[in-house]
Amino acid sequence: MSSKVLITIDYQKCTTPFACKKCIEVCPGEVFLVTPNPMMIKKYQPIDENQPGSYLLLAPMTPKCVGCMKCMEICPNDALKVEIQHPEPEITT
Ligand code: SF4
Ligand code: SF4
Repeated sequence: MSSKVLITIDYQKCTTPFACKKCIEVCPGEVFLVTPNPMMIKKYQPIDENQPGSYLLLAPMTPKCVGCMKCMEICPNDALKVEIQHPEPEITT
């Protein structure tokens, strides 16, 4: 059984991910993605990357995370938490 990774993004701290992208640039696993926030899209209006909440950071490729913790180290807002969950050891009798 392999380890499982859990990535938590604090959206109160990561407010302008399109303008930042530091975690994306540093991640060797290409885990992250930035997408426009559907709640903020207004028809025929350009999206301002500097407006808080206009974009959302997602981690759709979490299974590709290698656990290097570079994203946590580089994030200027302390918005990321990466947890490696190791499986319970099997008990044999
Ligand atoms: S711990 Fe490393 S591989 Fe995992 S998401 Fe962060 S930068 Fe990417
Ligand atoms: S480095 Fe931090 S603030 Fe920048 S996009 Fe990633 S999670 Fe958001």
